[in-house]
Amino acid sequence: MERPSRLNCKVMPFPELGARIADVRSRIQLAVTRGGYGQTVMIVAVTKTHGPEAVMAAWEAGLADVGENRVQEAIAKMPQVTVPVRWHLIGHLQRNKVKSLGRFAMFHALDSARLADAVNSFGLDAEPVDVLVQVNAARETTKGGFSIEELPGESARLATMKGMKVHGVMTMARLDADERELRETFSAARGARDGLLSAGHPATELSMGMSGDYEIAVEEGATIVRLGTVLFGARE
Ligand SMILES: *Cc1c(COP(=O)(O)O)cnc(C)c1O
Repeated sequence: MERPSRLNCKVMPFPELGARIADVRSRIQLAVTRGGYGQTVMIVAVTKTHGPEAVMAAWEAGLADVGENRVQEAIAKMPQVTVPVRWHLIGHLQRNKVKSLGRFAMFHALDSARLADAVNSFGLDAEPVDVLVQVNAARETTKGGFSIEELPGESARLATMKGMKVHGVMTMARLDADERELRETFSAARGARDGLLSAGHPATELSMGMSGDYEIAVEEGATIVRLGTVLFGARE
């Protein structure tokens, strides 16, 4: 019986992972206290560009949620992973690939009305898809997602779609934003999430914060942080 040995990947590739997670968790706890939202925060371990051993290492270290930004890369990795992690798709999805959403626990990047239509028809045929609406709260022309202004209209349309469940909002801040701008971006995303909630969506989640800005994101109410570098080190 040739099976990939779990022992092989236990501590070897990411020896500091346990300590890094412990540090991140305590920083998150402190940020929750400072921010005052009292929320529970889930860590999604972003394993993009790393092999399946990063996913196994995350699981061994107590993280059950992993994130990938490219669907092909994620699907190639899945068969090599022998632990029952939940896969999150955190990057853009082409409309002709919506069927692959059946493999993911959550899709964080619902970024256009046309993609919503495609996801909805897939979800009507299969199971309702669990999604987060990507909001371009930083107003970057290079980033996808709905603007804060167009979200209320789209929210009403999404509410009629039985093929998906809108669990909240995902956003990304500008990489070189200073603290004031980070807070503006993150609080705009929080407002967008609250708007979805008021419109009747089960929108309790706020996916924001990466390695460089997660503490501020948590202070601003993040319920999901997506962390790669701070857990696994710099990517190639
Ligand atoms: C890569 C990526 C992350 C993680 O970035 P780090 O800075 O390495 O923590 C988070 N979210 C998305 C959408 C990503 O593509």
